[in-house]
Amino acid sequence: MIARVIVDVTTNQTDRLFDYLIPAPFQAAIVPGVRVVVPFGPRKVQGFVIEVAKTSTIDAGKLKPVEQLVDIEPPLTRELLLLSEKVKESTLSFHNTALKVMLPAAMRAKYKKEAMIHPETAYELVAKEIKRYFTSAEAVLDWDELLKKAGDAEKRLLLKALKEKTILVLPKVGTQGKKKKQTLVHTVRSPEELAQLKAALPANAVKQQDVLQHFIDRPEPVPVAELLEAVRGSRSTVKALADKGILCLEEAEVWRDPYEGRHYERQASLPLMEEQRQALEPILQAIDGEYHRTFLLRGVTGSGKTEVYLQAIERTLAKGKEAIVLVPEISLTPQMVTRFKERFGSDVAVLHSALSMGEKYDEWRRIREKQVRVAVGARSAIFAPFENLGMIIIDEEHETSYKQEDAPRYHARDIAIERGEYYQCPVVLGSATPSLESFARARKGVYELLTMEKRVNDVQLPDVTITDMREELRNGNRSMFSAALIAAIKQRLQRQEQIVLFLNRRGYSTFVLCRDCGYVAECPHCDISLTYHRTTHSLQCHYCGYTETPPTRCPSCEGESIRFFGFGTQKVEEELKKILPDIQIIRMDVDTTRTKGAHEKLLDQFGRGEGDILLGTQMIAKGLDFPNITLVGVLAADAMLHLQDFRAAERTFQLLTQVSGRAGRHEKAGEVIIQTYSPDHYSIQDVKSHDYLSFFQKEMLLRKQAGYPPYFYVTLIHVSDTDLPKTIEVTKKITNYLRSKLSPATKIYGPAASAIPRIKDRYRYQCMIKYKVEPYLTKILHEVVQTYQGEMSRSDLSIVIDTNPYMML
Ligand code: ADP
Ligand code: ZN
Repeated sequence: MIARVIVDVTTNQTDRLFDYLIPAPFQAAIVPGVRVVVPFGPRKVQGFVIEVAKTSTIDAGKLKPVEQLVDIEPPLTRELLLLSEKVKESTLSFHNTALKVMLPAAMRAKYKKEAMIHPETAYELVAKEIKRYFTSAEAVLDWDELLKKAGDAEKRLLLKALKEKTILVLPKVGTQGKKKKQTLVHTVRSPEELAQLKAALPANAVKQQDVLQHFIDRPEPVPVAELLEAVRGSRSTVKALADKGILCLEEAEVWRDPYEGRHYERQASLPLMEEQRQALEPILQAIDGEYHRTFLLRGVTGSGKTEVYLQAIERTLAKGKEAIVLVPEISLTPQMVTRFKERFGSDVAVLHSALSMGEKYDEWRRIREKQVRVAVGARSAIFAPFENLGMIIIDEEHETSYKQEDAPRYHARDIAIERGEYYQCPVVLGSATPSLESFARARKGVYELLTMEKRVNDVQLPDVTITDMREELRNGNRSMFSAALIAAIKQRLQRQEQIVLFLNRRGYSTFVLCRDCGYVAECPHCDISLTYHRTTHSLQCHYCGYTETPPTRCPSCEGESIRFFGFGTQKVEEELKKILPDIQIIRMDVDTTRTKGAHEKLLDQFGRGEGDILLGTQMIAKGLDFPNITLVGVLAADAMLHLQDFRAAERTFQLLTQVSGRAGRHEKAGEVIIQTYSPDHYSIQDVKSHDYLSFFQKEMLLRKQAGYPPYFYVTLIHVSDTDLPKTIEVTKKITNYLRSKLSPATKIYGPAASAIPRIKDRYRYQCMIKYKVEPYLTKILHEVVQTYQGEMSRSDLSIVIDTNPYMML
């Protein structure tokens, strides 16, 4: 038998299948999707088995054998293997890169496998050849070492024993220590049955009744220690119920549950508002009818989109299927997670970057081993290895974080639709401010548009006031707060209501400038100004990490008028305290949320009313739902407008709408004050009038005129090298080549220096393609990489192609 393998070597020449012989002992164990170690030239490398074939076109005598098995069970399903080919094609990435992105980080690292006698096997009955290694029932051995030591016959025996579950092999990841074992208590009886059994117990069996009540309220399995603590009972109570066959006790491996120790009260689904009901209906039809359709759910902030998601998932689970929910990393707030846990309990796995590598891996395994049916996570959760997928939801679908900026440069939305087609299941894209691409598609009928214009319970959208900071300056107000904002804050303090103060930091940073000569401190390796960090009193480059101490004299004119411009959250806090000394500020930014759980702790504090103001950057813009917030203030609203990015206006509108949506979500009315230097810009005016459609129309017109998405597709080719003339020359060649190959209607721009012309001492040039139809583009771009990367193979020239760029730098 032959294994056809993609090796983990990232070069053009190796990006194809290689054939290896499968040695007899591995015959049953090697299936598509497992990873193996194979000889590759003088080295040994890891690889993915893509196919298993009977014969090879290459002479058997020339084939080398697979050396080692990395996985016991294939981590990648057949569907994901197929998907990896599409990802490779559409993003022009290497196949190994497309495969690896689907695995949790822990699996990309090296890990050990521990072998032991299976706990369900009686040691006495184990064959003596195996007992030779496992000298006791408790022995734990390194599986790979063991296979290396064993002869062929023994190897076969060991693998057979593994298959027959005589021995058990478990992966061991990270430094989290050994897998713990624990006794779990669970019941197969329904709550109704339990209620009957409880009623039938003698009146003095109080503890037994308590235990049953516990399972009536929370049917999921619970560790015995936790149960005993909850009911203040003893082991004998549980044992008595187990003896009666009502409860079952089971030794189980303990998963590292990142949400351990927290209780989630079960929440039943809410009776829907009329608009929610109308939005949900067609989704339920697709679930019941088992067909694929992409829905775009545009619902204003607070319209109850999450409840629609939850009920769609309920129906999916009732059909015995699984669901993936994507949320942007920053809105994976405890509040959001809680809503899913409360509805689906232990059926949910959560994947986000705040988890340790081991925790993430465990959550991933819970999906792969079918212990959960709902996965909630950021971008990469779109690859959750479910095999009976019934629903994919992307919340805040307009978020740019759904696009991966490293290879493979995929967009989660495209992957979702690909998987939705494969499983014939609906995909729901939700947002208050859909991306222009998605909304345009919905208008053309490619997606089905669902709309919710009203907030739940007819709560009004907040009043938005725009204050012109130029006007403030003219009136002699030099502070960073407008008079209107200060007045509104004072009013809230009096009424004991809460305030969110949002500082838009993207595209805005503190830099050092000499007032006399105009000198700006720049990174010596990148053509970009350095950012001042107050906490460490240092100047840093955000691209390469270069750090220096801020100058006290201007290095250029020797003058002493060096000033720090711009402001951060700390500065805002200080300034506000000068005006309102007694104010309680909870500041949330990268500095205050660095430690694990800090984010949640701060939000809890704010929720309990321990602060008047929640002050923060992008991380407080979404997902917050606190009834006492009645004022949202936005500082530097237009900071993003001036980025060199055709989506700058769209992103400004989306962010401002999002953050405004935090105000007045419940009984108390909300107000928003937006401070800006561009009060007339449509992206800011349309936030005031809560008018997505108006914004959409204006922005579409501009995109049409400038030839940008969604009217045209854009592909960016980045070329970089340490040698400037070579960078320009290669970019020029590529541009000419494309001009000769692509249709005359297609526009090709370049070679042009990138917006940041040098990063880490590498010069950067680019070529941009704008096109409507170009059926052979992928093939042509492949040729570009082959030709020009290949030609320069011994230099450090790099060509990066982004077929759907979100970062125009
Ligand atoms: P969105 O995601 O659209 O901004 P949410 O899903 O956060 O809105 O809902 C806003 C608030 O309304 C939440 O507090 C939620 O619990 C509540 N809510 C949603 N649907 C209903 C409903 N049908 N009845 C009562 N409250 C609801
Ligand atoms: Zn730098």
